Amino acid sequence: MTERADPAPASSGEPGARDWSPEALRDALRRATDWLLEYRARVGSLPVFPATVPGEIRDALPARAPRRPEPFERVLADFDRILVPGLTHWNHPGFFAYFASATRGPSVAAELMIAGVGVNAMLWRTSPAATELELVVVEWLREALGLPAGTRGVILDTASTSSFTALLAARERAGDHVRETGLGGSAPLAVYVSEQAHSSLEKAAMAGGLGRAAVRRIPTDDRFRMDAGALERAIETDRTRGVRPALIGATIGTTSTASVDPVSDIARIAAETGTWLHVDAAYAGSAALLPEARGAFDGWERADSIVVNPHKWLGTSLDCSVLFFRDPAPFREALALTPAYLESDHGDVVNLMDFGLPLGRRFRALKLWVLFRCVGVEGLAASVREHIELARGFANRIEADARFRLSAPVSFGTVCFRAAPPGPDIGDEAADDLNRRVLERVNRRGRVFLSHTELGGRYTLRLSVGSVHTGAGHVEEALAELAMAVDAELESPGGRGEW
Ligand code: PLP
Repeated sequence: MTERADPAPASSGEPGARDWSPEALRDALRRATDWLLEYRARVGSLPVFPATVPGEIRDALPARAPRRPEPFERVLADFDRILVPGLTHWNHPGFFAYFASATRGPSVAAELMIAGVGVNAMLWRTSPAATELELVVVEWLREALGLPAGTRGVILDTASTSSFTALLAARERAGDHVRETGLGGSAPLAVYVSEQAHSSLEKAAMAGGLGRAAVRRIPTDDRFRMDAGALERAIETDRTRGVRPALIGATIGTTSTASVDPVSDIARIAAETGTWLHVDAAYAGSAALLPEARGAFDGWERADSIVVNPHKWLGTSLDCSVLFFRDPAPFREALALTPAYLESDHGDVVNLMDFGLPLGRRFRALKLWVLFRCVGVEGLAASVREHIELARGFANRIEADARFRLSAPVSFGTVCFRAAPPGPDIGDEAADDLNRRVLERVNRRGRVFLSHTELGGRYTLRLSVGSVHTGAGHVEEALAELAMAVDAELESPGGRGEW
């Protein structure tokens, strides 16, 4: 009989060949939990964006790892003292930048459970429950979003990975035995996305060996939606030149304005040309929970693949990206590869490693499961609905304020606008500069955090509501901060004043 090693106490300072004792783990978890609860209670009073300069945090940390164990208490104290002041607080209620990624309580608890059991769901046999739960929660999400029965899916880390995975499946279908012989033997392949599409599909083309030159950026209309006629012409031009269309990427909820491409028209073109249709609904897909928003999703049910990121709008922690597909076969054809050491014989089971690049897979399904169980589909929908209403309220106020102008139709929870003070026209360059300085002032104050984009070549401010922690008062605060910043900027351009 082998002797069981005694677990080490957390603060023993003994070399840690053995794991913590249960008491030590309990003590550490209690301390971490207490810290976390206190943090979540006070995060709204911290500056959203840290007042740190590049390299400051790094310099405050030792250059070498400790040789001997340290008590967890000391590690936690350093986390609080050195690292937390250097965090951008995504759970701050004034976080309006990019797209939100705030964590709901159930997802925080689920992360603890995931780390605690620490399973790897690469094969069914390496954690049957993790594999089967993934199939179940993807099915729950499918139904909640109104996608057709029979649509399957897997959970990956990010939309970038999901879209890349879709591109690999599409590449396999369009190319000639790419998995076996590479791209050399195929006709050149092309990818079609709108000018407003996220850069991840362009990156996928780079990484997938098609190259950036294979990406056709299709123009958009005055509402930032892909011009379906231009798409049709681009495909036609390519085909006459012997270039094969591999994938059309339509977006529901583009990154800058949350605009929605005409997916039904694009689906028709995809069907007529035999091209893979991928829908990037990484951000806005969660809004399909709302029956009243379903119109924006017309046609997505005809896509070959769709990505929706619960970590953007539903409140799961990063990372949780669901890649839906109509047919699992092309993913297997592109990516399944089983060396002898991973062979297993359990009959007709799903081995999740067959559907993506990574072998090891976290137990991400648990986050969605706990979230669905503890919040419910109606609770999740209510949050999304509230965020859309808050964004509309913000947009109405911006529209009514002579100092601002909306720059794009308001879509889902995202508003694009510019400071455009009344009076003589100051010209585009000066207006860009003013907006840049307004944003800088607002963000420097740290009460709210907004980001920017470029629309029609002009610097544009952008506010997106999508955090479970954000309420009407925080949106009100954003309006007040913006108004103050414009007034101060007009009075004393570039000056810091009381700021
Ligand atoms: N697609 C859209 C529309 C996005 O807005 C983003 C990021 O904001 C992405 C894809 C990439 O998301 P991820 O960070 O999950 O890769």
